[in-house]
Amino acid sequence: GAPSPQNPAISSVIRKKLMGYVGFANLPNQVHRKSVRKGFQFTAMVVGESGLGKSTLINTLFNTTLYPPKEPLHPSAERPKTVAIESIGADIEENGVRLHLTVVDTPGFGDFVNNDDSWKPIVENIESRFDSYLEQENRVNRLKVVDNRVHACLYFIQPTGHSLKQIDIEFMRRLHTKVNLIPVIAKADTMTDEEIANFKQRILSDIQHHNIHIFQAPTYENEDEETIAEAEEIASKIPFAIVGSNKFVGTPDGRKVRGRAYPWGVVEVDNEEHCDFVKLRQMLVRTYMEELREYTNDVLYENWRTEKLVSMGVAQDSTVFKEINPAARLQEERVMHEAKLAKMEAEMKMVFQQKVQEKEAKLKQSEEELYARHKEMKEALEKQRNDLEDKKRKIESGRPITPEKNATGRRKGFLRT
Ligand code: GDP
Repeated sequence: GAPSPQNPAISSVIRKKLMGYVGFANLPNQVHRKSVRKGFQFTAMVVGESGLGKSTLINTLFNTTLYPPKEPLHPSAERPKTVAIESIGADIEENGVRLHLTVVDTPGFGDFVNNDDSWKPIVENIESRFDSYLEQENRVNRLKVVDNRVHACLYFIQPTGHSLKQIDIEFMRRLHTKVNLIPVIAKADTMTDEEIANFKQRILSDIQHHNIHIFQAPTYENEDEETIAEAEEIASKIPFAIVGSNKFVGTPDGRKVRGRAYPWGVVEVDNEEHCDFVKLRQMLVRTYMEELREYTNDVLYENWRTEKLVSMGVAQDSTVFKEINPAARLQEERVMHEAKLAKMEAEMKMVFQQKVQEKEAKLKQSEEELYARHKEMKEALEKQRNDLEDKKRKIESGRPITPEKNATGRRKGFLRT
């Protein structure tokens, strides 16, 4: 039916050709300008045993000294016994684009005799960041939402040349549904090209065997060949074999490059023939930073949120109804519908609770203010009364000294009858 003012529920979409330039084609630029002005928030996490070059790589990636050079731990020094979570923030700017970068380090990971639970504090940290985001989303005033969620996790694999260790698999298995995992082979300059190629194969088959999801550069339908080729090129390098260094060294042919000098030659950080640093930087910073942020928001966070809300409502187990028969399907649909309702209800409950809490806090505050005012007034009155009493006492005790009397013999200031 045609749309009519009487019945606004009926509507249809009509394609129209514009007669002249209207201007909303500039929307992308407007959105772009706005986000450029507001700046971007990006949080990267680094995980791996100490000494694998995590801080060096971060410094190399962002071309700053976010991390000062570490003093090597003395062998006899007391080592911490748990994984710590430390974050460093930096505001960096490049060609007018502001980036608030946070790097979350996890010192202690994999450094103990027993590393069974090394992943635990890290999962908790990632989830508590989701929690804080959810809490902000539910706030009535959503003007300033701070996105502290971890958008990418660089996992450093020791360059052993064997295969993944138990701790590597355990970590990735626990984390891959919560964060964009980017595995890297640390200190790749300690291995030959052939060793690296074999090591990569083994790592990939371990990852596949354990159904671990690694972040992949997304490709969309209708994407141009160049973009697809670039994504494939990057994907083919995973896990990235990395060399980090912030120091400039001289090459035999007289160039100054970021790299590591050895008696047999120089390993160049920014040379794609030498290592995958350039590809990693492309993945993390130059090409897919926004995709990492989007995937975190649209998939990882969304799944976590749904799970959380459903677990607050009714726990559903739809696998029971997997057999394909109409009754079971209907049942499954009903269950799913109920789960959806439960989710909505839980969400509403949460918003409601939030609002009630805010209201209660406000009431409590005004109650306190009232009480404070009441107290103040009471004290003021009390003081006045005391002053008056004082005056009265003074006047009374002063009677013999100032026997000023009027004609009727009464003291001045007292009521006449
Ligand atoms: P973190 O404990 O993981 O943060 O490791 P650091 O970044 O502090 O590095 C530990 C040591 O390894 C330092 O002496 C670095 O110079 C060195 N290092 C860092 N990256 C590399 C690398 O890619 N190759 C080699 N051979 N050494 C590296």
